[in-house]
Amino acid sequence: MTVPAATQTFDASLDAVVVGAGFGGMYMMLKLRENGYSARVYETGDDVGGTWYWNRYPGCRCDVESMQYSYSFSDELQQEWNWSERYAPQPEILAYARHVADRFDLRRDIEFETRIDRATFDEATNRWTIETNTGKRISARYFITAVGCLSTANLPDFPDRDAFKGNIYHTGQWPHEGVDFTGRRVAVIGTGSSGIQSIPLIAKQSKSLHVFQRTANFVVPARNRPLDPEERAAVKADYAALRAKGRSRPTGFFFEHNNFSALDVDDAERERLYEKFWDNGGLTFLGVFNDLLISPESNETAAEFVRNKIRKIVKDPETAELLAPRDIIGCKRLCADTGYFETFNLPHVKLVDISKSPISRLTENGLMVGETEYQVDDIVCATGFDAMTGALLKMDIRGVGGRTLNDKWEHGPRSYLGLGVKGFPNMFTITGPGSPSVFANMILCVEQHSDWIVGCMNHMRDEKLKRIEATLDAEDAWVEHNREIGDGSLRSQCKSWYLGSNIPGKPKVFSPYIGGFPIYTDKLAESVSHDYRGFELSR
Ligand code: NAP
Repeated sequence: MTVPAATQTFDASLDAVVVGAGFGGMYMMLKLRENGYSARVYETGDDVGGTWYWNRYPGCRCDVESMQYSYSFSDELQQEWNWSERYAPQPEILAYARHVADRFDLRRDIEFETRIDRATFDEATNRWTIETNTGKRISARYFITAVGCLSTANLPDFPDRDAFKGNIYHTGQWPHEGVDFTGRRVAVIGTGSSGIQSIPLIAKQSKSLHVFQRTANFVVPARNRPLDPEERAAVKADYAALRAKGRSRPTGFFFEHNNFSALDVDDAERERLYEKFWDNGGLTFLGVFNDLLISPESNETAAEFVRNKIRKIVKDPETAELLAPRDIIGCKRLCADTGYFETFNLPHVKLVDISKSPISRLTENGLMVGETEYQVDDIVCATGFDAMTGALLKMDIRGVGGRTLNDKWEHGPRSYLGLGVKGFPNMFTITGPGSPSVFANMILCVEQHSDWIVGCMNHMRDEKLKRIEATLDAEDAWVEHNREIGDGSLRSQCKSWYLGSNIPGKPKVFSPYIGGFPIYTDKLAESVSHDYRGFELSR
């Protein structure tokens, strides 16, 4: 319960409060400290790691290559850390986050098991008052959110949810002690990345597994493998150049890609290239041609290639057709698997198509689809997140005139550069909606935002400025620019969490910036070089 503001005194007066001790909050804290600011990070969990702290479901790992999904700011750090696999498993990423926290002595500035419930801007002092669930009240010049884009679990409100006598789990809120499914009858709802990673492992343990699929997803093989020392050494020897190469790519990753259209080559060559990228594995499959997310004709060639792969892997033709997505490949986020489709060849695993008849309610013993009851012991909801805005809007953030962020974003998020919001001065949103975030290497994105924010704070300190706020014109133009380029991409043409379509009643706005990492980098730099163009700075 939140203690009423009026009954509290300030427990601390700081330059900055940072919300969240994931990769964003940790690096932000380090930069603030290095630049001489008093700051504290507040974190709901009892340790660092953010998404990798909460998501502990079987098979959870990062489907971005570990040599790239890691901090780039310290060469010592990237030289000394040894990733064990091409794609790091969740426990190893969490161990890495803990290592970073210890190595840079970050824990002394992080307050764990403390949730930020409210932040209120005071126009008289140009400071934020931040209130925690533990009853603390902190005053800070800057309020910086590092809450992640996929951190608010979406647990569907199935009718009679409480009637179910078994266990209900959400992949994004997995019990720390793990779950043993041995001998159990399990239902998994959802076939996005989390479902696709966990289903093969849950199938290995369970007595029976029913997978409830509303929409089939495009999945390419991850081709995970141990990293050998020579491979690691080769990347480390060339890390700076490879990171720079990554930053020059729209995704922020360095990987092989082709700069021509799928329609520029004949059928045989197209097939050969798809096979090559399929064999190499991973999300870079979409880099095989440069127009897969622009041209519907090109996209369809890739989509049909993947459908044919599914038809070959899955033995039962009816199941194979249900698993073969009909829509645009890459519109929903592409998934990478290890043995996902093969799992449906196991006799105790069944796919239940709920595209036409949804889960109507839960019962004491399971769940109902139409007139059929599926009796299970455990239900795993791999049902995703209230993405991009969920974690921000869960806090009661009040800007100028007491206006809430919820009110301001009633029709969808509005920001300038995904960093600043008109009416919310001295607030910065690391990987906020309107920035590349989920479309780019998330770790490079948090480094980029934190560097920009601390650079801005230094400028404010040097110039004795007390307040920075995005202008309405800059915000409007950025929102319009986002809409225009979003509309030009095939990624906006289906129901996805990018658009908010997965959450009933959520405004349908394409939230991440799709213009690419390098263009976005230029936009950030342009703003700075033109005296923080798009922001109003004052004393
Ligand atoms: P997701 O992609 O949003 O998938 C959720 C699944 O649950 C979808 O299949 C969805 O169906 C289904 N669903 C949602 N509500 C439902 C309902 N009421 N009834 C039946 N089905 C329902 O969520 P996610 O798999 O957790 O992944 C979210 C994102 O997290 C990913 O796209 C990725 O960016 C990130 N992630 C990354 C990794 C990694 O390796 N880096 C791993 C896991 C997750 P519809 O498609 O019909 O909505």
